[in-house]
Amino acid sequence: MTQSPLDALPIREELRGQQPYGAPQLNVAAMLNVNETTYDVPTEVVEAISSQVRAAAQRLNRYPDREFTLLREKLAAFLSAESAVPVTPEQIWAGNGSNEVMQHILQAFAGPGRSVMAFPPTYSMYPLYARGVYSDYIPGTRSPDFTQSAQDVADQIRRHRPHVVILCSPNNPTGTALDLEVVEAAYRAAEESETMVVVDEAYGEFRQPGTPSALQLLEGRPRLIVTRTMSKAFAMAGGRVGYMAAAAAVTDALRLVRLPYHLSAVTQAAACAALDHAEVLMGNVERIKAQRDRIVTELEAMGLTPHPSDANFVFFGGLDDAHAAWEHLLDDGILIRDVGIPGHLRVTAGTPEETSAFLDSLRRYLNR
Ligand SMILES: *Cc1c(COP(=O)(O)O)cnc(C)c1O
Repeated sequence: MTQSPLDALPIREELRGQQPYGAPQLNVAAMLNVNETTYDVPTEVVEAISSQVRAAAQRLNRYPDREFTLLREKLAAFLSAESAVPVTPEQIWAGNGSNEVMQHILQAFAGPGRSVMAFPPTYSMYPLYARGVYSDYIPGTRSPDFTQSAQDVADQIRRHRPHVVILCSPNNPTGTALDLEVVEAAYRAAEESETMVVVDEAYGEFRQPGTPSALQLLEGRPRLIVTRTMSKAFAMAGGRVGYMAAAAAVTDALRLVRLPYHLSAVTQAAACAALDHAEVLMGNVERIKAQRDRIVTELEAMGLTPHPSDANFVFFGGLDDAHAAWEHLLDDGILIRDVGIPGHLRVTAGTPEETSAFLDSLRRYLNR
């Protein structure tokens, strides 16, 4: 192994030789690799954010509202409307991205000597969050088609008795949402070991009609947490705002581990302004869903095997050489994601033009 300047530092042993998170950030015509909204932020939202941030700037001499009261009210109202489940501000917690919310959850409920379980292939950050809080990471398993059944998930939880279990629904990178019966079965199995059950719904707003949110299960389940983010559906990846809903006592647990004033006044102002315009932003969500469904249909017509998607991206197999296809697309200025699963790639649903460019380029690759 080559020596890195890091090796000279007294870094924690388990960090030696590890790589940081690093999806490529390349400036190409179509950036379809990290599931951002590819539409620009609508002008009226830009105006609203600018004026709210301007107002916040006048008070930057003061620490921000530690309780981000207004933001919690707006997030609760959004979730209540979006999922038709009453959610109160006391049930809401937010952070700088759902990444930070997840870190808070693990700091409070996992930590040294404890364990975190998730089911790969899933979000690549889960093992990194676990490492960051000195917890053991337990990789569970899925069916060969990457789906999860209620019985299998429950059995695995009973076998491993983790302190925290993370279900990703819709799952990244495969795109498919879980039936609520799977979440219910996971929670029942988790009750025996008092395991916290986190459902990561980063892509929840993109779910197919008739697919319910796990928010419906919060009532009466004190150890269930549903996380969401403004990075995807709200076109605010650069704003860094994620949040969760759970029993009010869970938010009190997270208050014990957050750094004081973790959400800046600028962040709170920007997020509140975006939430005031949820309707126009959710209009783009519908456009993206239409392109997502179009990608599935057209990939099938090309003889590839897209997985059912409840997200703003499509995971597909059937490629002879996924990396060669990925490079061909990149040569055409289209950046998608190679998640390291043979024969498979993941593409974000973008604008109609980006989607056409992706499909045309892939067709050329298949006919080469
Ligand atoms: C994108 C994504 C997130 C969002 O992370 P943020 O920190 O909110 O930007 C969380 N979970 C999954 C599975 C994701 O794909």
